[in-house]
Amino acid sequence: MNPQSAIAASVRKVLGSLSRVVTSEPVLSLTFDDGPDPDSTPPVLEILERYQARGTFFLVGQAAAAHPDLVKRIASGGHAIGSHSWDHRAFPGLSSRERQRQLRACERTLQPYGSRLVRPPYGEQTIMSRLEAFAMGYEVVGWSLNSGDWHEPSSAVISKYLLEMIEPGAIVLLHDTLYDKGMPAHGTDSAHQSWTDRGAMLSALEIVLDRLRGRYRFVTIPELLHVGRPRRTFWFKPSLAIK
Ligand SMILES: [Zn+2]
Repeated sequence: MNPQSAIAASVRKVLGSLSRVVTSEPVLSLTFDDGPDPDSTPPVLEILERYQARGTFFLVGQAAAAHPDLVKRIASGGHAIGSHSWDHRAFPGLSSRERQRQLRACERTLQPYGSRLVRPPYGEQTIMSRLEAFAMGYEVVGWSLNSGDWHEPSSAVISKYLLEMIEPGAIVLLHDTLYDKGMPAHGTDSAHQSWTDRGAMLSALEIVLDRLRGRYRFVTIPELLHVGRPRRTFWFKPSLAIK
């Protein structure tokens, strides 16, 4: 590597967010945000186990603190666990002090199972929040494929999109549950019910794993990083993903 590309690689390591790895091996990472959830995380774990697939779960600290048994169960299934902040507030709107408090509080809750991976809530971050994560030893993980499972009610649409787009080294964004401070944990109105119903995601996950069985290996993010060259992108738009 020449000096200029070595410098560029260092800058990407500090400021870039992992979006995929470059590899020709048929391997990819499924990632699940917003859990753990006693209703919808166990079915995800059962499906993954049935297909001998491993995933990476970006957990919300507050939910993890309420369900330590689920955190342990995720880890014992061979899955990786990363941070998704303490209470899922978007980082750009928080003070630096509060962001670091969020990361530390989540980190304490995930011990001893957490890895040094973080996915900022909504995929939103600033240069400053990225630097803070780096200073705390975190790799920021984005995605290369957004399943749209947080708004798409049809398993056929989700699975068709993923099956068309999946490629070696991909990082797929999924949600085992949906965490939002503004919504009641268990609402009674029908809009909230459809918003929180994870049936479409669960069936789509099963369709994708079934169709790709024997053709792809589904590994954790730490494992994926050993297979290929990490692609880190500058990921600073204040509102890139879910809103
Ligand atoms: Zn989230």
